[in-house]
Amino acid sequence: MADPVTLNTTDPAQTEAWAAEFAASMKAGDVLALDGELGAGKTTLVRGLARGLGIDPGTVSSPTFALMNEYEGGRLTLVHIDAYRLSGPDELASLGWERLIDDPTVVIAVEWPSKIEGALPPERTTTIALQHIGEHSRTLTVTPPRGWTTCPTTGKRVPPDSPTWPFADRQAQLVDLYGWFAGKHTISRPVDPERDDLSDIPHATEDPASDQTD
Ligand code: ADP
Ligand code: MG
Repeated sequence: MADPVTLNTTDPAQTEAWAAEFAASMKAGDVLALDGELGAGKTTLVRGLARGLGIDPGTVSSPTFALMNEYEGGRLTLVHIDAYRLSGPDELASLGWERLIDDPTVVIAVEWPSKIEGALPPERTTTIALQHIGEHSRTLTVTPPRGWTTCPTTGKRVPPDSPTWPFADRQAQLVDLYGWFAGKHTISRPVDPERDDLSDIPHATEDPASDQTD
Protein backbone atom coordinates (compact mmCIF):
# COMPACT_ATOMS: atom_id res chain seq x y z
CA MET A 1 0.00 0.00 0.00
CA ALA A 2 1.36 3.39 -0.94
CA ASP A 3 2.00 5.68 1.98
CA PRO A 4 0.46 9.14 2.24
CA VAL A 5 2.60 11.95 0.87
CA THR A 6 2.81 15.25 2.72
CA LEU A 7 3.71 18.60 1.23
CA ASN A 8 3.58 22.20 2.38
CA THR A 9 2.53 25.23 0.42
CA THR A 10 3.24 28.79 1.48
CA ASP A 11 0.69 30.64 -0.64
CA PRO A 12 -2.52 29.91 -2.58
CA ALA A 13 -0.70 30.03 -5.93
CA GLN A 14 1.48 27.14 -4.80
CA THR A 15 -1.52 25.03 -3.83
CA GLU A 16 -3.05 25.81 -7.20
CA ALA A 17 0.15 25.00 -9.06
CA TRP A 18 0.52 21.66 -7.30
CA ALA A 19 -3.13 20.80 -8.06
CA ALA A 20 -2.64 21.72 -11.73
CA GLU A 21 0.24 19.27 -11.95
CA PHE A 22 -1.74 16.62 -10.14
CA ALA A 23 -4.62 17.11 -12.59
CA ALA A 24 -2.33 16.23 -15.47
CA SER A 25 -2.11 12.68 -14.08
CA MET A 26 -5.86 12.31 -13.51
CA LYS A 27 -7.95 10.04 -15.65
CA ALA A 28 -11.70 9.72 -16.15
CA GLY A 29 -13.43 8.19 -13.14
CA ASP A 30 -10.88 9.52 -10.65
CA VAL A 31 -12.35 11.00 -7.49
CA LEU A 32 -10.69 13.48 -5.15
CA ALA A 33 -11.91 13.74 -1.58
CA LEU A 34 -10.89 17.14 -0.18
CA ASP A 35 -10.85 17.17 3.60
CA GLY A 36 -10.27 20.27 5.65
CA GLU A 37 -11.95 23.05 7.59
CA LEU A 38 -13.47 26.16 6.10
CA GLY A 39 -10.69 28.25 4.56
CA ALA A 40 -8.25 25.33 4.40
CA GLY A 41 -7.92 25.76 0.63
CA LYS A 42 -10.20 23.11 -0.86
CA THR A 43 -11.77 25.40 -3.45
CA THR A 44 -8.38 26.94 -4.21
CA LEU A 45 -7.11 23.45 -4.96
CA VAL A 46 -10.07 22.77 -7.27
CA ARG A 47 -9.17 25.94 -9.15
CA GLY A 48 -5.74 24.43 -9.78
CA LEU A 49 -7.30 21.17 -10.95
CA ALA A 50 -9.35 23.14 -13.46
CA ARG A 51 -6.28 24.90 -14.78
CA GLY A 52 -4.41 21.59 -15.11
CA LEU A 53 -7.30 20.13 -17.09
CA GLY A 54 -7.38 23.13 -19.42
CA ILE A 55 -10.44 24.79 -17.91
CA ASP A 56 -10.50 28.51 -17.05
CA PRO A 57 -9.84 28.54 -13.27
CA GLY A 58 -11.78 31.79 -13.01
CA THR A 59 -15.01 29.87 -13.54
CA VAL A 60 -14.45 27.83 -10.37
CA SER A 61 -16.37 29.11 -7.40
CA SER A 62 -17.42 27.58 -4.16
CA PRO A 63 -20.47 25.48 -4.98
CA THR A 64 -21.84 25.86 -1.46
CA PHE A 65 -25.13 27.21 -2.74
CA ALA A 66 -25.31 25.09 -5.86
CA LEU A 67 -24.07 21.85 -4.22
CA MET A 68 -22.53 20.92 -7.54
CA ASN A 69 -20.85 22.66 -10.47
CA GLU A 70 -19.68 21.13 -13.72
CA TYR A 71 -16.81 22.76 -15.59
CA GLU A 72 -16.46 21.76 -19.21
CA GLY A 73 -14.10 22.60 -22.04
CA GLY A 74 -11.03 20.86 -20.66
CA ARG A 75 -9.36 17.51 -21.28
CA LEU A 76 -11.95 16.04 -18.88
CA THR A 77 -15.08 17.54 -17.35
CA LEU A 78 -14.49 18.57 -13.76
CA VAL A 79 -17.41 17.94 -11.42
CA HIS A 80 -17.11 19.92 -8.21
CA ILE A 81 -19.35 18.91 -5.32
CA ASP A 82 -19.67 20.63 -1.97
CA ALA A 83 -21.22 18.01 0.27
CA TYR A 84 -21.41 20.27 3.32
CA ARG A 85 -25.16 20.75 3.13
CA LEU A 86 -25.98 17.31 1.76
CA SER A 87 -27.97 15.23 4.19
CA GLY A 88 -26.11 12.07 3.19
CA PRO A 89 -25.36 9.67 0.33
CA ASP A 90 -29.08 9.40 -0.55
CA GLU A 91 -29.26 13.04 -1.51
CA LEU A 92 -26.40 12.45 -3.94
CA ALA A 93 -28.79 10.55 -6.17
CA SER A 94 -30.68 13.77 -6.84
CA LEU A 95 -27.47 15.27 -8.22
CA GLY A 96 -27.23 12.48 -10.80
CA TRP A 97 -24.41 10.72 -8.96
CA GLU A 98 -25.03 7.36 -10.66
CA ARG A 99 -24.52 8.94 -14.04
CA LEU A 100 -21.46 10.96 -13.00
CA ILE A 101 -19.54 8.20 -11.29
CA ASP A 102 -19.56 6.08 -14.45
CA ASP A 103 -19.18 8.90 -16.95
CA PRO A 104 -16.03 8.23 -19.03
CA THR A 105 -15.36 11.97 -19.46
CA VAL A 106 -15.55 13.09 -15.85
CA VAL A 107 -13.34 13.54 -12.79
CA ILE A 108 -14.97 14.45 -9.48
CA ALA A 109 -13.69 16.66 -6.66
CA VAL A 110 -15.67 16.58 -3.41
CA GLU A 111 -15.41 19.09 -0.58
CA TRP A 112 -16.62 17.78 2.81
CA PRO A 113 -16.50 14.11 1.68
CA SER A 114 -17.25 12.93 5.23
CA LYS A 115 -20.88 13.96 4.58
CA ILE A 116 -21.23 11.30 1.91
CA GLU A 117 -19.05 8.64 3.48
CA GLY A 118 -19.35 5.33 1.69
CA ALA A 119 -20.49 6.80 -1.62
CA LEU A 120 -16.98 7.38 -2.95
CA PRO A 121 -15.35 4.33 -4.60
CA PRO A 122 -12.23 3.55 -2.49
CA GLU A 123 -10.26 2.10 -5.42
CA ARG A 124 -10.59 5.38 -7.34
CA THR A 125 -10.57 7.97 -4.57
CA THR A 126 -7.49 9.96 -3.64
CA THR A 127 -7.91 11.79 -0.35
CA ILE A 128 -6.25 15.16 0.12
CA ALA A 129 -6.41 16.52 3.64
CA LEU A 130 -5.66 20.25 3.83
CA GLN A 131 -4.54 21.68 7.12
CA HIS A 132 -4.40 25.33 8.03
CA ILE A 133 -0.92 25.93 9.50
CA GLY A 134 -0.57 29.71 9.28
CA GLU A 135 -2.08 32.61 7.36
CA HIS A 136 -0.56 31.49 4.05
CA SER A 137 0.78 28.10 5.01
CA ARG A 138 -1.05 24.82 4.43
CA THR A 139 -0.11 21.18 4.73
CA LEU A 140 -1.52 18.79 2.13
CA THR A 141 -1.60 15.10 2.96
CA VAL A 142 -2.28 13.00 -0.10
CA THR A 143 -3.46 9.42 0.34
CA PRO A 144 -3.69 7.40 -2.88
CA PRO A 145 -6.67 5.12 -3.54
CA ARG A 146 -6.88 1.81 -1.68
CA GLY A 147 -4.92 -0.95 -3.38
CA TRP A 148 -2.49 1.44 -5.04
CA THR A 149 1.16 0.84 -4.52
CA THR A 150 4.49 2.49 -5.26
CA CYS A 151 6.47 1.02 -8.15
CA PRO A 152 9.77 -0.32 -6.73
CA THR A 153 11.64 0.79 -9.87
CA THR A 154 10.21 4.19 -10.74
CA GLY A 155 8.60 5.30 -7.50
CA LYS A 156 5.42 6.06 -9.45
CA ARG A 157 1.95 5.27 -8.12
CA VAL A 158 0.46 2.10 -9.56
CA PRO A 159 -3.29 1.37 -9.54
CA PRO A 160 -4.43 -2.11 -8.48
CA ASP A 161 -5.81 -2.95 -11.93
CA SER A 162 -2.48 -2.32 -13.67
CA PRO A 163 -1.41 -5.38 -15.74
CA THR A 164 2.16 -4.90 -14.49
CA TRP A 165 1.27 -4.32 -10.80
CA PRO A 166 3.19 -3.56 -8.61
CA PHE A 167 5.37 -2.06 -11.35
CA ALA A 168 4.43 1.11 -13.19
CA ASP A 169 4.88 -0.52 -16.59
CA ARG A 170 6.59 -3.35 -18.48
CA GLN A 171 9.86 -1.47 -18.65
CA ALA A 172 9.96 -0.95 -14.90
CA GLN A 173 9.27 -4.67 -14.49
CA LEU A 174 12.18 -5.57 -16.78
CA VAL A 175 14.53 -3.19 -15.03
CA ASP A 176 13.72 -4.91 -11.75
CA LEU A 177 14.25 -8.34 -13.35
CA TYR A 178 17.59 -7.18 -14.70
CA GLY A 179 18.49 -6.15 -11.14
CA TRP A 180 18.13 -9.79 -10.12
CA PHE A 181 20.42 -11.05 -12.89
CA ALA A 182 22.95 -8.33 -12.15
CA GLY A 183 23.04 -9.43 -8.51
CA LYS A 184 21.58 -6.16 -7.27
CA HIS A 185 19.08 -8.09 -5.19
CA THR A 186 20.47 -10.89 -3.05
CA ILE A 187 18.89 -13.39 -0.72
CA SER A 188 20.44 -13.82 2.71
CA ARG A 189 23.04 -16.60 2.69
CA PRO A 190 21.95 -20.10 3.67
CA VAL A 191 22.76 -21.41 7.16
CA ASP A 192 26.28 -22.85 7.44
CA PRO A 193 26.59 -25.15 10.51
CA GLU A 194 30.38 -24.66 10.46
CA ARG A 195 30.07 -20.92 10.96
CA ASP A 196 26.73 -20.44 12.66
CA ASP A 197 26.27 -21.33 16.30
CA LEU A 198 22.66 -22.43 16.49
CA SER A 199 22.90 -24.16 19.86
CA ASP A 200 20.78 -21.45 21.55
CA ILE A 201 17.87 -22.03 19.21
CA PRO A 202 15.79 -25.03 20.27
CA HIS A 203 15.50 -27.74 17.59
CA ALA A 204 17.34 -25.58 15.10
CA THR A 205 19.74 -28.32 14.10
CA GLU A 206 17.07 -31.01 13.91
CA ASP A 207 15.03 -31.94 10.91
CA PRO A 208 12.11 -29.46 10.98
CA ALA A 209 9.69 -32.27 10.09
CA SER A 210 10.43 -34.02 13.40
CA ASP A 211 8.84 -31.08 15.27
CA GLN A 212 5.44 -31.94 13.97
CA THR A 213 5.11 -34.98 16.21
CA ASP A 214 5.52 -32.89 19.43
P1 ADP B 1 -12.14 26.05 1.48
O1 ADP B 1 -12.75 25.71 0.17
O2 ADP B 1 -11.35 24.94 2.09
O3 ADP B 1 -13.12 26.62 2.45
P2 ADP B 1 -10.91 28.24 0.05
O4 ADP B 1 -10.01 27.67 -0.98
O5 ADP B 1 -12.23 28.76 -0.36
O6 ADP B 1 -11.03 27.19 1.25
O7 ADP B 1 -10.16 29.41 0.81
C1 ADP B 1 -8.84 29.29 1.22
C2 ADP B 1 -8.37 30.69 1.60
O8 ADP B 1 -7.08 30.60 2.15
C3 ADP B 1 -8.30 31.58 0.36
O9 ADP B 1 -8.64 32.89 0.72
C4 ADP B 1 -6.81 31.49 0.01
O10 ADP B 1 -6.36 32.66 -0.65
C5 ADP B 1 -6.18 31.41 1.40
N1 ADP B 1 -4.86 30.76 1.42
C6 ADP B 1 -3.77 31.25 2.02
N2 ADP B 1 -2.72 30.47 1.91
C7 ADP B 1 -3.12 29.40 1.18
C8 ADP B 1 -2.45 28.23 0.71
N3 ADP B 1 -1.15 27.98 0.97
N4 ADP B 1 -3.17 27.34 -0.01
C9 ADP B 1 -4.49 27.57 -0.26
N5 ADP B 1 -5.17 28.66 0.14
C10 ADP B 1 -4.50 29.57 0.87
MG1 MG C 1 -14.78 25.63 -0.48
